[in-house]
Amino acid sequence: MACILQIALDTPLDSVFDYRWPCEPGSEPLVGQLALVPFGRREAVGVIVAIKASSEVPEDKLKDALAVRGQLAPLSPQWLALARFAADYYHRPLGEVAMPGLPKNLRLASTVALDRALKKLAKLADDHDPAPVDMPALNPAQRQAADAIGGAQGFAPLLLYGVTGSGKTEVYLQACAQVLGRDHDAQILIMVPEINLTPQLEANIRARFPGVMLATLHSGLSEGERMLHWLAAHQGRARIVLGTRLAILSSLPHLKLIVIDEEHDPSYKQQEGLRYSARDLAVWRARQLAIPIVLGSATPSLESWHHAQTGRYRRLELRERAVRDAVLPRVKLIDMERDKPKEGLTSTLIAALRSRLERGEQSLLFLNRRGYAPVICCEACGWISDCTRCSAHMVLHRPERRLRCHHCSLEMRIPHACPTCGNIDLQPLGRGTQRVEEGLSALFPQARILRIDADSTRLKGSAQAAFDAVHRGEVDILIGTQMVAKGHDFKKLTLVGVLNPDTALFSQDYRASERLFAQLMQVAGRAGRAGLESEVLIQSRYCQHPLYGAVMRHDYDRFAGDLLEERHQAALPPFMYQALLRAEAPELATAIAFLESARDVLPTDAVVINDPIPMTMTRVHNVDRAQLLVESNSRPALQTFLTAWVDLLRAMKTRVRWSLEVDPLDI
Ligand code: ADP
Ligand code: ZN
Ligand code: ZN
Repeated sequence: MACILQIALDTPLDSVFDYRWPCEPGSEPLVGQLALVPFGRREAVGVIVAIKASSEVPEDKLKDALAVRGQLAPLSPQWLALARFAADYYHRPLGEVAMPGLPKNLRLASTVALDRALKKLAKLADDHDPAPVDMPALNPAQRQAADAIGGAQGFAPLLLYGVTGSGKTEVYLQACAQVLGRDHDAQILIMVPEINLTPQLEANIRARFPGVMLATLHSGLSEGERMLHWLAAHQGRARIVLGTRLAILSSLPHLKLIVIDEEHDPSYKQQEGLRYSARDLAVWRARQLAIPIVLGSATPSLESWHHAQTGRYRRLELRERAVRDAVLPRVKLIDMERDKPKEGLTSTLIAALRSRLERGEQSLLFLNRRGYAPVICCEACGWISDCTRCSAHMVLHRPERRLRCHHCSLEMRIPHACPTCGNIDLQPLGRGTQRVEEGLSALFPQARILRIDADSTRLKGSAQAAFDAVHRGEVDILIGTQMVAKGHDFKKLTLVGVLNPDTALFSQDYRASERLFAQLMQVAGRAGRAGLESEVLIQSRYCQHPLYGAVMRHDYDRFAGDLLEERHQAALPPFMYQALLRAEAPELATAIAFLESARDVLPTDAVVINDPIPMTMTRVHNVDRAQLLVESNSRPALQTFLTAWVDLLRAMKTRVRWSLEVDPLDI
């Protein structure tokens, strides 16, 4: 007797389709299994989401499924529910959410790669000794936190608020040990913002749990590796899965604990396609499975902090650094109006660098701007190096002798002369990491200086090599972008200099100050971790700004409290729920016109629909971009509206490319 398989496929619009399948007794397919089907002129792999006796599709239009992947255990109903929730919440088709989360090799017509990976996995010995080795004694605050996590029952969201260097990792590991030791199937998902920046964590886990299979899931893996690790998690054999945001959609049949390290980090938000928040999905997943989830940070997101304040999350605190005698560094502001910088460095900072060099200690300079200078200009006629395709400047990259647009990757040689007036004296304006590096070399010719940013670490493995050199003590002064601000435990680092943080103070993005504060606390947190006396010097023209005062006092609580109050007054998240409709077209007017029709297509009082506006960076790669913000103080009201609205938007005939983002981070 033939049956009908309902299969979710990765397609933009309608994504669930009916196929016929023989369904012979004894070999019936199962919901959650993968199947190969003809789709248009190609073949595609999808996941079976339902099996029915009949279809509404006319018999002659109904196609046969080609194969069911019987060798692979079905994805669990919980996994399908997670995908369905994400699809509903972010208003995307189910197949588009479910399928891209699976390894590419699983989505091929051929099963050669799958069969090979299964064989390889079968040969791997299961090692069922979860006992950890070399566990250091925890301090009382760590002990309390680890026991609270390890002993939590049912759905328990825990905010681990611990200052930088307070030993959060150790808390995670010992809580993991408790869970693994108690439950012989238990799987744990540990998420980190960027795996390349936290290789120490992977090494720590391996060393601590030598008898436990660890799978890693991140974009740096080859397809073969990804398949193997994904399968190890899917079969329940990998007891610990360490991954970046994409790991949130992995199949983990025995998931018992989720850890989100640096939960405030914007990398947990996917910024294209399905714009999901891995942190938010993780909380949903924990609730669905009735398991604990730990959100760890020295500077929690205001969303999570708010939940802790209102009692929805339980707060665990680590107020002290873990290493004996390690204290938080002293933070000082240097007034750039009085101490005029030379090569971007004030004399106070230069003197501090010199004293570190004399003592053989390391320094870190933080400047969140790569390249040599953000723009070059002609002083004779006022020409500046604008990108021809974007509303942005072309950035000077001196070592490569090129101008580059960081938005559309347009590149060109540095012009010999001004394109408008012929003046040959073109000047760089402002300063990026390359220029600071150059200035430092001139000031300290003997020092070993290393720059770490997206340009210096383009080659695979080069970031790792650079960080290793710092750890080995082969670098005196490290200069870098936000890449150097996070996570690393540099033992010999006693000075952090922050070069140009002021611009974020006046950004029109209401989240800019939250982000700047977190960034400054994180980068300051790199200093003095091994007990050496250390300091952080922030160069600013606005030394009286309250944000800097809070950084100086290491006072996240107060800062977060004030910011929440401001957000409350201004009716902004987390007190408001938002969705952003974006539109792109060759002409701005077209994009705006589309958004205007979108605004009017579904009149409602349940939500506030704002007027369309051009995006701050309006033009990128010859496309103009505009946006429209929808808000409500009720999440259900917003969701109800969006569901109906998206259907109408899909029905609108337009050549404009549009996308909807729920809970947008950048507005
Ligand atoms: P965080 O993630 O909170 O910034 P880490 O987990 O990197 O901090 O820990 C900072 C340092 O403290 C590490 O070098 C770690 O080995 C050390 N550490 C953690 N817990 C303890 C402890 N209980 N006793 C001694 N050292 C510890
Ligand atoms: Zn000119
Ligand atoms: Zn450009």
